[in-house]
Amino acid sequence: ARGNNPLSFDKSAELIERNAQWMAGGVNSNFRLNISPTPLVFERGEGPWLYDADGNKLIDYYLGMGPMILGHKPQALVDAVKQEIEKGFLFAGQTTVEAEAARLVCELVPSAERMRFGCSGSEVDQAAIRLARAATGRKKIIKFEGHYHGWFDNVLWSTAPALNAAGPENAPVPVAGSKGQLTETADALVVLPWNNLDLVVERLAQGDIAGVIMEAAMCNAGAVHPAPGYLEGVREACTRYGTILIFDEVITGFRLAPGGAQERFGVTPDLSTFGKAIANGFPVAAIVGRADLMEMFATGGVVHGGTYNAQPIAMAATVATLMSLKPSLYATLEERGGRLMRGMGEIFARAGVLAQVAGFPQVFHVALGLDVPARNYRDLARMDRPAYVALTTALLHRGVRALERGAWFLSIEHSDAVIDDTLLAVEDSVRELKAKGV
Ligand code: PMP
Repeated sequence: ARGNNPLSFDKSAELIERNAQWMAGGVNSNFRLNISPTPLVFERGEGPWLYDADGNKLIDYYLGMGPMILGHKPQALVDAVKQEIEKGFLFAGQTTVEAEAARLVCELVPSAERMRFGCSGSEVDQAAIRLARAATGRKKIIKFEGHYHGWFDNVLWSTAPALNAAGPENAPVPVAGSKGQLTETADALVVLPWNNLDLVVERLAQGDIAGVIMEAAMCNAGAVHPAPGYLEGVREACTRYGTILIFDEVITGFRLAPGGAQERFGVTPDLSTFGKAIANGFPVAAIVGRADLMEMFATGGVVHGGTYNAQPIAMAATVATLMSLKPSLYATLEERGGRLMRGMGEIFARAGVLAQVAGFPQVFHVALGLDVPARNYRDLARMDRPAYVALTTALLHRGVRALERGAWFLSIEHSDAVIDDTLLAVEDSVRELKAKGV
């Protein structure tokens, strides 16, 4: 029925146009631009739903780009934050609540002997890269095509937002992600295809690599599993050649398992970074790892700072989030997410639409036009992007909000009934697209 009466986003479009006189593009992150039919303006969120300026109620699979594993506005966080806010906002000193949050992080994350808080994934990735260089006295960092580690000059190379790839698959040429980027930063990078163990071992053997940074399961550009033995092989080679292994768990952390990808796959990095689901929507990130490396922040002359690091209200949200991450939560996410993935796969199959629904039940991607599962970024880049944007746009008009570029995120508030509604919207959207010949 909804298909005959699609939602309108005119009010959002009008507000974006008005707001663009103050905010560049009417938004505050480039990743909120270029949304079809318009970037949206929201009034509130609750559970699995967002309520926008047009009065639409949308099932949300963005979840703030990943953080909201407990859904929007969970009561435990509302209560914790209200209580903490009464005590003041910022002390440029230590608090009980930050210590409690740190203790929980160290308890949950297998490799976390020590940790530090930051405010964004981009920042803590910088801290990890700096530590790797300080610890090894080497300069070069290996990163992988399509893996995103923040928007700063030295890592915004060959990332998903660029949606392009250059050079031969086995020897990629770094592709800058932004104008104004200091191009010399590429001299300190080696960009490789992910999931190819021989190539990374061969390069590490030259003995000049400070660190390898990767999403342990590639999620930012679309959720892809590490090939069997890949993480173990990279781990072993990093140890052999004196290279620091960094897992960027900004998406995978507290989402794939309480202890992130490192727990799920049983591979221990030297350093890892977290963000997003660590605080269910508050600006919190963390770098964790080996005590000897992390202690370099305290006694080894390595600088890490930040006015807002461990901001107490955000720390109260962190404690409340981490306390909520019970094993049963992951079992439920796996079950419901699995049903959603299978249901979508069946709809595409019935409609004769070539598609891969792949990844993890709590974060997965839909690649239209691929006949085999993607193993890396170049595989994903072969998907039919315009058809996928047509699909997410059709879904949005049926009350389902999924990222145009990237993964579907699931929260514990996405009930079976919400998933049923989603599948109906997918079925209806696929029918519309087929009728239009997309
Ligand atoms: N690493 C990964 C894997 C990410 O997905 C992101 C954000 N999408 C970041 C780092 C950067 O985090 P932030 O946006 O908090 O700076």
